[in-house]
Amino acid sequence: MLSQVVELIENKQAFGITTHIKPDGDGVGSSLGLCWLLKSLGKNAEVIVHGDIPFAYRGLPGADDIRQVDEIDADYDAVFVIECSDLQRPGIRGLDQEFTVNIDHHATGEHFGSINWIDATASAVGEMVYNLCKAIGGRVTKEIAECVYMALVTDTGSFHFPNTTDRTLKVASELVKAGVKPAYISEIVYNSYPWARIDLMRQVMGTVHRDPSGRIAMLRQTRAMRQESGAEDGDNNGFVNIPLAAREIRAVIYMREVGDNKYRVSLRSKGDINVSKVAEKFGGGGHKNASGLAIEGDWDEAEAILLSAVREAVDRSDPDWISETPDSE
Ligand code: 5GP
Repeated sequence: MLSQVVELIENKQAFGITTHIKPDGDGVGSSLGLCWLLKSLGKNAEVIVHGDIPFAYRGLPGADDIRQVDEIDADYDAVFVIECSDLQRPGIRGLDQEFTVNIDHHATGEHFGSINWIDATASAVGEMVYNLCKAIGGRVTKEIAECVYMALVTDTGSFHFPNTTDRTLKVASELVKAGVKPAYISEIVYNSYPWARIDLMRQVMGTVHRDPSGRIAMLRQTRAMRQESGAEDGDNNGFVNIPLAAREIRAVIYMREVGDNKYRVSLRSKGDINVSKVAEKFGGGGHKNASGLAIEGDWDEAEAILLSAVREAVDRSDPDWISETPDSE
């Protein structure tokens, strides 16, 4: 919990910080924000990751100093593990020998850390890093603010996903006061992709189809599409949300081929449809309206299995949710 994290930071000196492979804006932003906070408190800290940082996050302060490692190769008093469901998610060997601090806003993860600070009410781990900064009496510097804002803006879909709360907006407001230029962060996240993204989007959107009820949309991305477009990890960010723009669509299944008969899958939903429960059935996890998993089989077979599980969740949900929305605003 938070008080244990504060005590640890106050009593120790050398910290590593890591996040999951193929990190998103919350993974990178929260890790860097925490790193700046620790440094501002006079501690030694560095961010270590396995693999590349997606282009969109390379402009963040401190991103150039992120070290890519395959295994722990330095002496740390503790390693912070950001936004990971288990100790394998960072893809770094030797973490199991470290004193680890698990910081996450997903309720579905394992409590693998020596300390576990989980806050499923936080919109992003970035919001938790901000709370930590306040709890430890740190100053929200411009660097911390930019990194944490990146975490918030990406994990809330620019403040329009259901995880956006009054607290999220209050924190965002404080970050802007600390020097963040929202338009600059939005520009580097949303308008700085390579053309390969557009090419891949054209191909993936070309596969869009719906189940017979018209409420569930499905997307497919083959390895060939990715190769032809030249897209990198992260260039497909947000594709899964595109079909949600149609009012009839209640859930989306986005399958990406990653090997022979092997797929990574993203699930999205609206309202009270809980796709994290669906993902958990397949060994995945995430949030009520955004989750992910891995599955094997041929395309049609795997899609049919997923569709049946998602349809059950949609059938259990409130069919009048859309018409009720205006009243609840
Ligand atoms: P995405 O679809 O954007 O990859 O992931 C949506 C959400 O589900 C994120 O919060 C992500 O951390 C979580 N998620 C995605 N894949 C997995 C998985 O295999 N296991 C778990 N536990 N969470 C996942």
